[in-house]
Amino acid sequence: MPVTLRPTIEPEPVNPALLRRDFPIFEDANRDQPLRYLDNAATTHKPRAVIDALTRSYAECYGPIHRGLYPLAEQATSNYESARRTLQHFIGAASPDQLVFTRSTTEAINMVANGWLLPRLQAGDIVWVSRMEHHSNYLPWQRACQQQGAELRIIELAEDGQLDLDGANGLFSERSKLIAISQVSNVLGVENPVAALCATARQHGIPVLVDAAQSVSHIELDVADMGCDFLAFSAHKMFGPTGIGLLYAKAERLAEMAPFQVGGGMVDIVGIGTAPSQWTGIPSRFEAGSPDMPAAVGFAAAAEYLIGLGIGGVRKHIAALTRLAAERLLTIDGVALLPHAELPSSGIVSFTHRDLHPHDIAQIAGESGVAIRAGHHCAQPLLNHLGLAATARASFSVYNDEADIAALVAAIRRAERVFRR
Ligand code: PLP
Repeated sequence: MPVTLRPTIEPEPVNPALLRRDFPIFEDANRDQPLRYLDNAATTHKPRAVIDALTRSYAECYGPIHRGLYPLAEQATSNYESARRTLQHFIGAASPDQLVFTRSTTEAINMVANGWLLPRLQAGDIVWVSRMEHHSNYLPWQRACQQQGAELRIIELAEDGQLDLDGANGLFSERSKLIAISQVSNVLGVENPVAALCATARQHGIPVLVDAAQSVSHIELDVADMGCDFLAFSAHKMFGPTGIGLLYAKAERLAEMAPFQVGGGMVDIVGIGTAPSQWTGIPSRFEAGSPDMPAAVGFAAAAEYLIGLGIGGVRKHIAALTRLAAERLLTIDGVALLPHAELPSSGIVSFTHRDLHPHDIAQIAGESGVAIRAGHHCAQPLLNHLGLAATARASFSVYNDEADIAALVAAIRRAERVFRR
């Protein structure tokens, strides 16, 4: 059996000036000021390698997959399945059959809520989420619980923004049917101890779903190490195309799961009238309809791009930049960071300003060429709990540098002048 040796050498942080050249969006000569893109938690830009992979798929090897018997279709099928294998290695899964292509993180989570949880959830059962979940890792569970008369309980946060696991009474009780948790919060930037949580949950026989939407671009994912039952993420947050995501699940969980959608490509024998139909094998039974082969190929190209950069160096760069942004923002009188035990390092800094509305900051920043996000970030349960309607959020990627942070600080200073503090 081949043994993979992990590098023991400290990775060098990636070089953003060099990497920006990989991303055509930063080349736009018609832009009157440089693009300072600090909205990477919403979506990331695409390197040429991904754009080229998509173009080649359409221009050179496009055809219906898993259906056609002619060479072009066979090649398209082979490219789609090869993309699955690349992503299998990217997340350390034992088999490509444990990976289901979805439209997004959102669809992957809905697939588990409808296909796995709902058929086994009963009145009185408990499903756990945390206070910091994105609506996509909250509403699917809320609806399943509402439908079955089960309880949706919340793991609250300690004052420093970390999960208060000790305060979550009954988390590992027999009534708990699933724990759904994000690896990194899209608002707080807090990194949750998912591997430890999975280990304890496993001892109690409770499956865990990890939402990796905000971690996949800068934290090495290894589902074997993590020990999760389900993992969901989207390509567009890791330099890949929009409209495609992934659900990983342990083989036994996929075997227990019913198809969320039914239709072409997922059935072997169709029953007539109300006679039962026989689904095809896993994972195709979970990919009803014509799969998006070019997007899958682009997704794999994004994973290869990240592997090529070295995730350790990516993480180091992003951690340093996030800490620097937090430090610089705190030099502005009136700016407060959202609760965090230490300076955030997971690529996300959310903040408020005593005298400015987050939307005003985002608008003035936008006019200065700095793209940040303002709002509730699809995390209303968290924002309500913090007594906030909105925050401003800057989020970092491989192509950002210190000049982007300086531009953000300058934009906030400008907003202060515009709104005459
Ligand atoms: N989970 C988290 C933590 C997110 O940040 C997001 C998107 O911002 C999602 C889920 C949903 O991702 P998508 O819109 O790609 O389905």
